[in-house]
Amino acid sequence: MDEAVASVRSLVQSGGSHHVITLNVTMLGRAARDEGFRRIVNSAALVTADGMGTLLVGRILGVRFPERVAGVDLTDRLCAMCATEGFRVFFFGAAPGVAEAAADRLRRRHHGLRVAGIRHGYVSADEEPEVIAQIRRSAPDLVLVALGSPKQEDWLARHLAETRARVGMGVGGSFDVYGGRSRLAPEWIRAIGLEWLYRILREPRRWRAAAAIPGVIALAVKERMSRRWKSTKTG
Ligand code: UDP
Repeated sequence: MDEAVASVRSLVQSGGSHHVITLNVTMLGRAARDEGFRRIVNSAALVTADGMGTLLVGRILGVRFPERVAGVDLTDRLCAMCATEGFRVFFFGAAPGVAEAAADRLRRRHHGLRVAGIRHGYVSADEEPEVIAQIRRSAPDLVLVALGSPKQEDWLARHLAETRARVGMGVGGSFDVYGGRSRLAPEWIRAIGLEWLYRILREPRRWRAAAAIPGVIALAVKERMSRRWKSTKTG
């Protein structure tokens, strides 16, 4: 988490626009089957392991992530970092009123946080140029986009450079959490890595996403076996 925050600080300070992705296992499954989405993930400046599923896939493939860096936690830590550094944050997404509530809450948690602007996430294609112009006018260093995945990643891949924000990150349902519309799992459930189960039980629509997990794990196992086979063949 500390490394992720430090990387984002450097990305803000460097030129250009950079996409940051917190990759959960559902997104990993999408990346495996959808080439367009995979390209977006592979060209991101920073990808973190959001959730136990991604950590497990990493372990199967021999990549040891130091820890889980979930979007909802990284959002809070980035707001802290932006408050310290004087960076400006734009909040784009979620239902009307929710991004305002989230920005208020984060401003109260992190004194001095500079909110560049706020816009809800239910915009038609016609309104899109106006949203991009609003973000660009507000000159943010960081734009947080809460449209859900893969909508937010597609949006950032297409429009981040136009917004001229230094860093853009999709944050899924994080504004709902900070805006008081949904609750995180209790700390002990998060600590033992069962947040996914808690979310499924609270929001049954998440079953469908969870159903993709065994397939992703199987794919990782297959990949590992084929690598081993190739190395025994060549070695
Ligand atoms: N959302 C939005 N515009 C849309 C669709 C979704 O602003 O057109 C918001 C929605 O209100 C919610 C967030 O995107 O705040 C999606 O949250 P969810 O927890 O479903 O994201 P996921 O974790 O599935 O990526």
